[in-house]
Amino acid sequence: MKILVLNCGSSSIKFKLFEMPEEILISYGSVEKIGEEISIFKYYGKVKIEEKLKVETHQKGIEFIAKTLVENEIENIEEIKGIGHRVVHGGEGFERSTIIDENVIKKIEEYIFLAPLHNPHNLAGIKACIKIFPKSIQVAAFDTAFHTTISEISYLYAIPYSFYEKYKIRRYGFHGISHRYVARRASEIMGKGKYDINAITCHLGNGCSITAVKNGKSFDTSMGLTPLEGLIMGTRCGDIDPGIILYFLEGLNFKSSEVSEILNKKSGLLGISGVSNDFRNLLPLYNKDKKVTLAIDMFCYRIKKYIGSYMAILGKVDAIVFTGGIGENVPLIREKALSNLEIFGVILDIEKNKEIIGKESEISKEESIVKIFVIPTNEELRIAFDTYQLIINS
Ligand code: ADP
Repeated sequence: MKILVLNCGSSSIKFKLFEMPEEILISYGSVEKIGEEISIFKYYGKVKIEEKLKVETHQKGIEFIAKTLVENEIENIEEIKGIGHRVVHGGEGFERSTIIDENVIKKIEEYIFLAPLHNPHNLAGIKACIKIFPKSIQVAAFDTAFHTTISEISYLYAIPYSFYEKYKIRRYGFHGISHRYVARRASEIMGKGKYDINAITCHLGNGCSITAVKNGKSFDTSMGLTPLEGLIMGTRCGDIDPGIILYFLEGLNFKSSEVSEILNKKSGLLGISGVSNDFRNLLPLYNKDKKVTLAIDMFCYRIKKYIGSYMAILGKVDAIVFTGGIGENVPLIREKALSNLEIFGVILDIEKNKEIIGKESEISKEESIVKIFVIPTNEELRIAFDTYQLIINS
């Protein structure tokens, strides 16, 4: 069964076409810079296409993808039985991936206030696909769904309870599709049932988050109401004293848009290093440039601090998993984040760790009580799998 997976951002569409349940990736690609003067289309399947063209809307972009698929991989549009859409915010309403109907669309619309930068574009993709692929079953997979098992002790902020009741201000967490994928994969590798594992999963990409998984379910996670909380990220600050925001606004008279720009776009690795938000640019300067070194050390310190706190709340930890562009490709980060944790039963095989770049592997020593894994994330495959299962069970 052919399943198309779509991830629609503000100006981009990423897609992957799978044959399920065989998990065969048939083709993939992206449309970038939608709405700009020149957009970029990339396609990798039976043919390789990299071309510049003008794509005004998500609808036009998806039409173009559909046309390319029919020209190269499939007989006709109807062959695509299901389309899985990544949706960033499902609020408290969606505990799992769901077949899309009018009610689901309405709810995703309702959650726009919680994810104004994401949900409208996810919806644009869904609405376009309903028109372009009228016979396909559309499925929404939510970044927040995996974290709906977190209890109120963790998801509430200690602000007046009425703000939760009235405005739904609480921790939601993100990257749930990735955390779920790697947690399930770790349980498979360890020969455990999927609800039989306690793990700490570290998703370190452009955005970074860490999740405590208890009995296969999300128990706590570092991102909060928005993806700004928690770990230090490429350009986002992660945890800060909320008093800093008040000082920006009242003491320094910054506009709220300026504060948002500082905390979302100018902080994190970029803000401290003054050089880049990308580890590929930072690593060559480690131990050479003082601020780059500081930024990387702070990044690792924050991860270690969260690992320690999640070990404390979980009690027993079977595995620590690294994923995402940084987690998969940067051994230095794994080494520094896990140093001096031997007393907690976490013993990294330092030499093996150095060799593992971008591939699945165990990197702990034999005697390590807590197993340590690098597991490349595959959010699209997870979405394809959910879509396939919902279709065969519908
Ligand atoms: P996203 O969170 O957008 O899915 P990724 O998970 O691909 O992004 O992570 C992107 C980040 O991962 C980059 O900004 C970079 O810091 C880091 N990264 C990706 N590949 C490498 C690599 N080969 N070496 C070092 N860092 C890398």
